[in-house]
Amino acid sequence: MTDAPARPQRATLPLRPELAGLEPYGAPQLDVPVLLNVNENPYAPSDEVVADIAAAVAEAARGLNRYPDREALGLRADLADYLAVESGVRVAPEQVWAANGSNEVMLHLLQAFGGPGRTALSFAPTYSMYPEYARDTGTAWQVGRRAEDFSVDAAAACDLVAEVAPSVVLLASPNNPTGTALPPATLEAVLGAAADVPGGCVVVVDEAYGEFRRRGTPSALALLAEHPHLAVSRTMSKAFGLAGARVGYLAASTALVDALRVVRLPYHLSAVTQATARAALRHAPALMAQVGSLRQERDDLVAWLRARGLRAADSDANFVLFGTFPDRHAVWQGLLDRGVLVRETGPEGWLRVSVGTPQETAAFRAALSEVGGL
Ligand SMILES: *Cc1c(COP(=O)(O)O)cnc(C)c1O
Repeated sequence: MTDAPARPQRATLPLRPELAGLEPYGAPQLDVPVLLNVNENPYAPSDEVVADIAAAVAEAARGLNRYPDREALGLRADLADYLAVESGVRVAPEQVWAANGSNEVMLHLLQAFGGPGRTALSFAPTYSMYPEYARDTGTAWQVGRRAEDFSVDAAAACDLVAEVAPSVVLLASPNNPTGTALPPATLEAVLGAAADVPGGCVVVVDEAYGEFRRRGTPSALALLAEHPHLAVSRTMSKAFGLAGARVGYLAASTALVDALRVVRLPYHLSAVTQATARAALRHAPALMAQVGSLRQERDDLVAWLRARGLRAADSDANFVLFGTFPDRHAVWQGLLDRGVLVRETGPEGWLRVSVGTPQETAAFRAALSEVGGL
C-alpha cells in the first residue's frame, strides 16, 4: 500500500457562478402523521397491485446483467394506450416520451430546445422547479404575471411571447400552486403566438394534475394533432399514486420526441422502472379508483374554506391554495404543531394543502380551525 501524497488541499471547485451558495430544492420531508404538502395520492397501491409490480420487477431482475430497452417502446405504447382511455386522444407510441419523473422530461425539453442564448417563458405564480430547469440548462428565464384570480390573460400572454421570443413556453395546467386550469382558447392563442416566433418556439403544457381536472375542462392532448410545437406532459406521480416510482412522460409530435431522444442519456430508464410502470399501467383503473372521491373532497374543501371566510383558489388539481394570512408561516407552524404538514408556497400570505383521505382532510380542518380561530 502506498500512502496518498501528503499535499495541502488547495484546489478550488470551478462551480458555475450561478450555482454559488444555492441549496438543493425540495419540500421539507418531515415525519408527521398527516402529510398534505407534496400533492401525492394519499392511497397506497393495493396488495394486488403490489404483488403484480413485485412479480414484474423480479422478472426484470433476471435480466439485469443486460442494459434495458433504450427506447422503452413497450412502456411508451402502454402510456399511449392509457392516454387514449383517459382523454380520448390517440397518439402513436413514437409520439410518447418517458423519463424519470416529469422533472426529467422537462429537463430533456430544455436541453433540446433551450440552452445558452435562448429563453424559457412562464407565467407566475407557477411551479418553482421551472426556473431551476432553465438555470441548469443555461437557458435564460422570464416570467409574465398571472391575473389576481391566477388566470393567464391570453392577449397579454401573446404580446409577451412576441416580445420575449422564447424558444420554450412552460404552462402548467392545472397550475401548481394555484390549481388553475387554462381554457383551450388561451392555449390556442399562445400556440399561435409561439408559431410566429422566429426560429420557433415549443409550448409545453404541464398536465401533472390533468386527471383531476373538473368536468368540462378538456386536456391539451386534444390540440396535439394540429400543433407540432406542442408538448403535453403528464406524470404517474400524482393521480396515479406512483410518486416513488419516478415515471413522467409527454405526448407530442414525433419530430419533437425525436429531439428528446437525442439529449437523453443512454438507458436513462432502468429496466426496473420500466417493469414497475408497465405493471402499474395494467392496473390503471384500480390505482386511479380514488380520483373521483379526491375531486369531490377537493371541491368540498374549497367550499369549507370559503364558508369560513378564507379565500380558496378554484382548483382543477388535488390541492387547494388558500389564505390569505398576515403571517402564513405562523399558520403553517401551528398546523405542523398539530401533526399536519402543508406547503408554504405561492404568493405571500397563501398556503397550499393537498387533498388527503377523508380522515386526513378532517384532521387538517380541525387543526386549521384551532390555529386560525375560525
Ligand atoms: C408534481 C409536479 C410534477 C411531477 O413531477 P414528477 O417528476 O413527475 O414527480 C410536474 N409538474 C408539476 C407542476 C408538479 O406539481
